[in-house]
Amino acid sequence: MAAVFLGSYFPNRRLPERKEPGIAFLGRSNVGKSSVINLVTDSAIARVSKTPGRTQCLNLYLVDDNWVLGDFPGYGYAKVSKKQRRLLETILEKFLLAQYFRFAVQVIDARHPGLESDIQVQDWLKAERLPFLIVMNKVDKLNRKERAEVERQAKKMFVHQPLLFVSTKTKEGKKELQGMLHRVGASA
Ligand code: GDP
Repeated sequence: MAAVFLGSYFPNRRLPERKEPGIAFLGRSNVGKSSVINLVTDSAIARVSKTPGRTQCLNLYLVDDNWVLGDFPGYGYAKVSKKQRRLLETILEKFLLAQYFRFAVQVIDARHPGLESDIQVQDWLKAERLPFLIVMNKVDKLNRKERAEVERQAKKMFVHQPLLFVSTKTKEGKKELQGMLHRVGASA
């Protein structure tokens, strides 16, 4: 896959008009969203950082001339100021709910499904009828027994939700995720 940077968007900026469908990437800080973006685009476009809560804007990339990837700021990080939190909420409200994005990918930590802030975002997406896929990342951190337990839990928790188990370390799930994203791009 080839990705081209289209720009950084703060709430005062209008999103570009494009014919390709937008796919929003969402996740808590430090969940590995940047790593997942790099994995699916076979690139190093998104910054992988050990300092959570840094990027407070929406970054757009055109992928394969086929779809537009929206890298949203990470949420759920406790140590951000009230002002930063408000900015994050504004970005989510203004850009995610502006009907620019046709599909969303929520990256969650496979070890911790069901966190409050993740559920809140899922409720939002459902209320907006924005179809989304849940990527359970960092599965390499689970042993066989934990993995079986998480799979059991997740299938119960996300009954109507497409779900993918991914590791950016082992590249598990990469091809499946790329295939799904490509189909969203192609179906527009
Ligand atoms: P972001 O804040 O959500 O964009 O997360 P990053 O992509 O910056 O990753 C946060 C940390 O998690 C980094 O130290 C990554 O190396 C690590 N990480 C990301 N994906 C995986 C994974 O699949 N497995 C493991 N073990 N670590 C990961």
